Amino acid sequence: MVDVVVVGAGIAGLTCARELERSGLEVEVLEASDAVGGRVRTDVVDGFRCDRGFQLVNPAYPALRDLVDVGALELRQFAAGAALAGPDGFGVVEDPRRSPGHMLQTLRSGYARPAELVRLAAWAAPALGSVPRLLAGEDEPLAASLDRHGVHGRVRDELFEPFITGVVAEDRGETSATFVRLLVRSFLRGTPGVPALGMSALPGQIAAELKSKVTTGAAVQAVRRTSGGVAVRAGDVERDARTVVVAADPVTAGDLAGLPPVAMKGLVTWWFACDTPPTSLDLLVLDPARSGPVVNTAVMSNVAPSYAPPGRHLVQATTLAGRGPDGIPDEAAVRAHLARMYRQPTRAWDLVVRHHVAHALPEQRPGVPLRQRVDLGGGVYVAGDHRDTASLQGALVSGRRAAHAVRRSFGL
Ligand SMILES: Cc1cc2nc3c(=O)[nH]c(=O)nc-3n(C[C@H](O)[C@H](O)[C@H](O)COP(=O)(O)OP(=O)(O)OC[C@H]3O[C@@H](n4cnc5c(N)ncnc54)[C@H](O)[C@@H]3O)c2cc1C
Repeated sequence: MVDVVVVGAGIAGLTCARELERSGLEVEVLEASDAVGGRVRTDVVDGFRCDRGFQLVNPAYPALRDLVDVGALELRQFAAGAALAGPDGFGVVEDPRRSPGHMLQTLRSGYARPAELVRLAAWAAPALGSVPRLLAGEDEPLAASLDRHGVHGRVRDELFEPFITGVVAEDRGETSATFVRLLVRSFLRGTPGVPALGMSALPGQIAAELKSKVTTGAAVQAVRRTSGGVAVRAGDVERDARTVVVAADPVTAGDLAGLPPVAMKGLVTWWFACDTPPTSLDLLVLDPARSGPVVNTAVMSNVAPSYAPPGRHLVQATTLAGRGPDGIPDEAAVRAHLARMYRQPTRAWDLVVRHHVAHALPEQRPGVPLRQRVDLGGGVYVAGDHRDTASLQGALVSGRRAAHAVRRSFGL
């Protein structure tokens, strides 16, 4: 009988399995899909590296620094700021602490009016203090919190909200303000980027260190407690184990472990190839007017040349899912919006691939604790971003927390 079966080889499951193995426990990982990584995968299509949904690694995530060899990822970082697309070109807003030389340019952009910035900074201030104090404080929806702190005007409507929409995958301001402050904390402390070989390098690194057996194509249908531990059924095979860690995606994990349902938010990423980059900027590009479906876009090959074959360029455009037929915005509307943002035609761009991730992020509403129990009793444990925060940081932390809880149950 194996000590631990881990269900799911996403970031949480892989992290958990590796921590358990390091304590000398015998672990087996069962993964439903054809490879490890879960929501962090990269498709290589005609030489273009297209992550399954645009996402970034923030080197400031504390768990990343503890659990991952960040240097080995060879991060290609964006510039610290954003380009705001206007009718006359881009207004560039950069973090003055990291780009002091661009301070004047940032103020001239008009998006960062000093009085509005002061109120936004006051709202964000708790993000820079102690995390336990931040977590212990009152929480409320983001929009209400910004209102209460008097954050209005261009800095909110045309800069902060357009930026945060792509990060939390919703534009109604319903997300927990505490969670958004945690995100702001990591953006102020680190500059996000992508691994040179694509986001899949992150789970790839953790998986490469695993010695445990990882079986792909093994979808677990049921988990039940037995007199000697647990039984985990995948297809016709039932495995006996002393304990199980259910590290499947939030919806499946809920079903397998009998947890309340978790609502998910979706994102659609469009990957376009072109011969000439529409800008040389290595910044995230936003539309302050929010005049179309694109919530953010970037020329990935400006940031990470390895994302495109020589002589070609790769542009990502992120849209919210749940809009348009089948929950996917209309391609013509996406191209038209990109044409306005970059102020050039996009008709000739080739669509390399489109990733519709209906279950991209668990909702993170106020009232739901940002740290939930991982030990469900009777040898059943659960890990995943839905137990902590909806992020890579949350997935890493929950994997480690579940591993610590299992270790304790073995007296280790
Ligand atoms: C488009 C997109 C953009 C994102 N952007 C960012 C970002 O910029 N920054 C950030 O920090 N985070 C971002 N995230 C979130 C981050 O990717 C996730 O929080 C994290 O990857 C979740 O990892 P996980 O291990 O908890 O779950 P998952 O990655 O969902 O892993 C679960 C695994 O379980 C497997 N599984 C499911 N059912 C079964 C079953 N029955 N039996 C066996 N295996 C099963 C799945 O195949 C999967 O491999 C983004 C996510 C998406 C989709």
